[in-house]
Amino acid sequence: KQSVAQRMEYEERRRDLISGISHDLRTPLTSIRGYLDRLLEGIATTPQMRKRYLAAMKIRTSDLERLVDSLSEYNRLENSLYRCQMEQVDLKRYIESYLRENRGEAEKENVNIDFSCQDGVYYVLLDTSEFKRVFDNLFTNTIKYRTKRKSQVSIRLRRTDNGIMAELTFSDDGPGVPSESLERIFESFYRADAARTHAGEGSGIGLYLSRLIAEKEKGYIQVESVYGKGSCFSVFLRMEK
Ligand code: ADP
Repeated sequence: KQSVAQRMEYEERRRDLISGISHDLRTPLTSIRGYLDRLLEGIATTPQMRKRYLAAMKIRTSDLERLVDSLSEYNRLENSLYRCQMEQVDLKRYIESYLRENRGEAEKENVNIDFSCQDGVYYVLLDTSEFKRVFDNLFTNTIKYRTKRKSQVSIRLRRTDNGIMAELTFSDDGPGVPSESLERIFESFYRADAARTHAGEGSGIGLYLSRLIAEKEKGYIQVESVYGKGSCFSVFLRMEK
């Protein structure tokens, strides 16, 4: 009985997933088709207009490329084809060096990042290239979904569970996640934004992959959010002695 229930749940998720992918693929395709029709009908009469249409088509084509890339990335991880290359990393130094490289990009978008951390070292076992996806995803989501003209993102690192775990949190003052979507945002291809207003900017697999990677690294991810106020994503990783 349990396995039948599991299969049905899996089937339902697969159906949702396929309708989500079709929707996200159709949006740029419809747009490219529209520009092509207009070009063929000769509506673009000047070379400047033709160039504008072609440039718009190029942007939509990049959106499609990104979607297809995330699909193969999803497939790669789903099939567990990758091998973890674990190494001991001081999470604090990792974050400081990440921020040195990426803080500028956030500031360009008027997002102020502040990082706070208790003293000491935070040794964890990580596959740094995989973990970068987790960090990138949480970091870019806070920028992508911001709603204020000037936003504030706080990154905090601390020890929890009597020093057994390291907790890394990203708190933002963005739109928050509706309570009915809180668990679902970690599902593949799920996007809380029902109207898909950010259609070209994501695919809904970032958090799914982040959870998968964190779990492979013997950790987990949680979210707390007040809709309309902001979100707080936390990654917990087991510390090395
Ligand atoms: P994507 O950003 O490509 O849609 P994710 O898996 O990273 O995919 O996120 C899933 C959904 O969770 C997003 O579509 C968005 O609705 C919601 N979400 C993620 N991060 C945030 C955030 N910081 N603030 C508000 N909503 C968020």
